[in-house]
Amino acid sequence: MKAIQLLSPNVLAVRDIPIPEPGAGEVLIKVRAVGICGTDISIYKGISPAPYPVVLGHEFCGDIVAMGAGVENVRLGDYVISEASWGCGTCHFCQRGLPSYCMKPFMYGRTCDGALAEYVRAPARIVHSVSRAVDPVEAQGVTAVATTLRAIRRSGLSVGQSAAVLGPGYTGLLLMQLAKLSGAGPVVVTGTNEERLQLARTFGADITVNIRQDGWADKLIEATDGFGPDVVFEASGRPDALAQGVAVVKKGGTIVAFGITGSPVENFDAGQLYKKDISIVGSKGGYFEYGNAVRALENQRLHTRELVTNIFQLEETPEAFRFITSNSRSVIRAVVLVS
Ligand SMILES: [Zn+2]
Ligand SMILES: [Zn+2]
Repeated sequence: MKAIQLLSPNVLAVRDIPIPEPGAGEVLIKVRAVGICGTDISIYKGISPAPYPVVLGHEFCGDIVAMGAGVENVRLGDYVISEASWGCGTCHFCQRGLPSYCMKPFMYGRTCDGALAEYVRAPARIVHSVSRAVDPVEAQGVTAVATTLRAIRRSGLSVGQSAAVLGPGYTGLLLMQLAKLSGAGPVVVTGTNEERLQLARTFGADITVNIRQDGWADKLIEATDGFGPDVVFEASGRPDALAQGVAVVKKGGTIVAFGITGSPVENFDAGQLYKKDISIVGSKGGYFEYGNAVRALENQRLHTRELVTNIFQLEETPEAFRFITSNSRSVIRAVVLVS
């Protein structure tokens, strides 16, 4: 089969490799579409380690074309999505039903071959059937929906509360829509990219604030009854955004550290945690939310198709990665259509 292998940092090649054989408890998926996320880019650049050569791609959908013994939750021919990573099943945390804290986690493109290929082998227990009414270009986004759903749950956001999403990227624009669906309001989105802020308003954001403008923090606080938002979702990945969240969040409020920052937060005023009685919570992965994320897509509760800004064919993947890394301001979500 045709597969895209990462040979070393920044070196992707189109290769012919054998079609994997599904073992017991596994399925073979003919890949339809693969979304490229920040983690793929981090592995591509060599920032996150990977066992070269490796096939990248952990957010995808496709059809089950073969299965090993003992698979009961899905059937041959099912149109499916897969969770992006999974627990070992035997460590301290897995035994307590907490696979997100697994000591030896598995992930496509990190510990085994991923989906940027014609076929991918998957553990059946992390595979979920999806209605064929969901286009592959949308279904590939289920991991992002699951991880943002989990962030909403971690935040405790409820009807009538106000929320701010810092960073109108792919996940920020999903968080904003989920905050609205949760009954929160007003929901404010902050960022620097006017086109994306406009998109946020199109999807239902009550107010957007450009942080390049003076007095943006005051504008945000004013927009949320003068107290600041009850919940702040940090979705930009910029280290200084967490400090900004602490500065603007309402007293007693919650900040969800959702964006992945590669460096420590400078000028972080920890005294404010005490003075404002603030909670900061992290949110990693989308464990236990995939079923809900599939239903949200099936019920057309989210604008996800409009977030896909670039579509590539499988053979174009090396070019796609080069394009994404040099056009980060214009690419919201890039998808590789495989079949
Ligand atoms: Zn990802
Ligand atoms: Zn484990």
